[in-house]
Amino acid sequence: MPKTQPAAESLSTYRAKRNFRETPDPAPGGEKPHKQPIFVIQEHDATRLHYDFRLEAAGVLKSWAVTKEPSLDPAVKRLAVRVEDHLLSYAGFEGTIPEGHYGAGEVRIWDHGTFENLDPDHSIAEGLDAGRLRFALHGETLRGRCSLVRMRAVGGAKKEHWLLSKGRDEYAKPASAA
Ligand code: MN
Repeated sequence: MPKTQPAAESLSTYRAKRNFRETPDPAPGGEKPHKQPIFVIQEHDATRLHYDFRLEAAGVLKSWAVTKEPSLDPAVKRLAVRVEDHLLSYAGFEGTIPEGHYGAGEVRIWDHGTFENLDPDHSIAEGLDAGRLRFALHGETLRGRCSLVRMRAVGGAKKEHWLLSKGRDEYAKPASAA
């Protein structure tokens, strides 16, 4: 089957982009998967403020840069640009990446917790290939059903564009609700 989607970036990209002697970003080493896979959302006040959404799978943090604050309103879909896999230890990272380095700016944990894959037929890795992830977050701000769905690639796009949205459940807060 021809590969029509741009390839996701991996941990080698994570390493290549960073100089661990000069930035506080976690360096590789001593990574252990969690019994319950974790997620984290890091508010990143870089050139452009965004929210880095990360899900643990296959020993790394699969990652997306979400262009606006995630919403609890199921009608809201947030653009989530797939970025390179991050180290598991990045989930605990908060701090300032110095000027002149990749991702320069403040990183602050916006939400974190564990999650469950809600797709009975596909692992997270398979869902990443298929372009569709359904999961339940057990965070402090984001709880319950959420999804990430990949959009069709448009001519020559280097990054995968996905949409992050809240599913309809008791944790959803539709804008129309009183
Ligand atoms: Mn970022």
